[in-house]
Amino acid sequence: MPTVGCHLSSAKGFLAMGETALSIGANTFQFFTRNPRGSRAKAPDPADTASFLRLWGEAGDGTFVAHAPYTLNPCAARPEVLDFARQVLREDLDRLEALPGALYNFHPGSHVGQGVSAGIEFIAGMLNDLLTPEQHTPVLLETMAGKGSEVGGRFEELRAILDRVTLSQRMGVCLDTCHVFDAGYDIVGDLDGVLTEFDRVVGLSRLRAVHLNDTMNPLGSRKDRHQKLGEGTLGLEAVARIVNHPALRDLPFLLETPNDLPDYAREIALVRSLSRETGA
Ligand code: FE
Ligand code: FE
Ligand code: ZN
Repeated sequence: MPTVGCHLSSAKGFLAMGETALSIGANTFQFFTRNPRGSRAKAPDPADTASFLRLWGEAGDGTFVAHAPYTLNPCAARPEVLDFARQVLREDLDRLEALPGALYNFHPGSHVGQGVSAGIEFIAGMLNDLLTPEQHTPVLLETMAGKGSEVGGRFEELRAILDRVTLSQRMGVCLDTCHVFDAGYDIVGDLDGVLTEFDRVVGLSRLRAVHLNDTMNPLGSRKDRHQKLGEGTLGLEAVARIVNHPALRDLPFLLETPNDLPDYAREIALVRSLSRETGA
């Protein structure tokens, strides 16, 4: 059975997220470690965390994704923005140690005119300050649409970050299907070619999760506007090829599509219906 879930609100804690995920047919899920735009996150309640881990150990697929807030920018120019990024990364990584099974995903950042190379140095520098050999949580760079001054729209940029991180074996990549298409990688016309390119530049062994989104915009638009599966430029046939591709089909698929919970339940069922059993 494929591992499929969606983005959920963390407002009611971990047990509630686990229960919600199961109620909509998901066996994985994603949540923001704090308000997507915001700053402070209250510390997780140990009793809630324990109940969630018990439930998830029995019914989930193990893996779930903690997504850093969008405001986290490790290659900002303003010192206070850099301080915020450092503080959030440190606190998130600390707290996730209590949540085995979590993958931590973040947007590499926007270099805000400092240039891609400077951005890459900033991002790797911050990871080198914060990653420790004792940490268990895999840290994922998300493939970006290349909107504005975003770093991570090219596979080479992700490679350059990974190459500069000392504890690089802790790092992985989350492939966002809306973002890569908007960035110019044609996963509709040539999925095999894009994944071969990803393998050559980054390495498929780095791939730990897929954000499964359709997109509102054409190839290379660098826009980053998610659409419901089958209702965007990717279309359902391309989505079916993605969820069945041998390099992807065993990864957790997280929907970040514009849906409420009932729509998510339908979309999760749709993904399951598209995915062909491999007899394994
Ligand atoms: Fe994201
Ligand atoms: Fe995403
Ligand atoms: Zn996006």
